[in-house]
Amino acid sequence: MITVTTSWDDGHVLDLKLAELLVRYGLPGTFYIPRTAERPVMPASAVRELASRFEIGGHTLRHVNLSTARPEVVQAEVTGCRKWLEDITGTSPAAFCPPGGRYNAATVGVVAGAGYTCMRTVELLSCAPPTRSAGVAIMGTTVQAYPHSASEYLRNIAKRRTWSNLGAYLSVRPDQRDLTGTVKRLLAAAAHRGGYFHLWGHSWEIEECGMWRQLESVFELLASLSPEARFLDNSGICGEHHEN
Ligand SMILES: [Zn+2]
Repeated sequence: MITVTTSWDDGHVLDLKLAELLVRYGLPGTFYIPRTAERPVMPASAVRELASRFEIGGHTLRHVNLSTARPEVVQAEVTGCRKWLEDITGTSPAAFCPPGGRYNAATVGVVAGAGYTCMRTVELLSCAPPTRSAGVAIMGTTVQAYPHSASEYLRNIAKRRTWSNLGAYLSVRPDQRDLTGTVKRLLAAAAHRGGYFHLWGHSWEIEECGMWRQLESVFELLASLSPEARFLDNSGICGEHHEN
């Protein structure tokens, strides 16, 4: 059985449009939200409203690159964001995503120390369950709702040395003009490569790339997998991989 999840970064105001679409197709989603970012973010009231229907995860206070920030900045950004989201939503977020997917081993320790139990990366083509490090379940993604080129996929693999994902790349041949077709092939690959399918993206990027209609067709496809698939948010999956 395939497990399907989605996640959306940056807390842009268009996340509300994305949330409506997820609700329409009965899909789960985890929204990783910073307090401020390079682009406009939702007001706190909208984050609270979103939290009543979807999982909210931390994405630092100011959307900073954690792999180059000073240790005290990393600490303040990771723990401060959790406290900020607790104050807004009344719930302690379980999931965290480092901006730009940039982190190092020390970052994972800070994420664990802040109380997060789940961390999403920007690894692509992963169909595997989360792995554990320093008490945090670390999960990759399968595909981004963005037209990545072949060289971007190959760089993503080479940088992380996730050579097993090369097999997925070669068998699926992601097509940047056809997200739905790519997702179809990735779902087939996921069925025998670990069983997890994780779609992620940014609402602002979907707007910039004119991908709303493509995204809706992907949501329709994912919803059609029910009842043969499981639908969980990010920490719902991580929660199953805490102690193994
Ligand atoms: Zn981000």
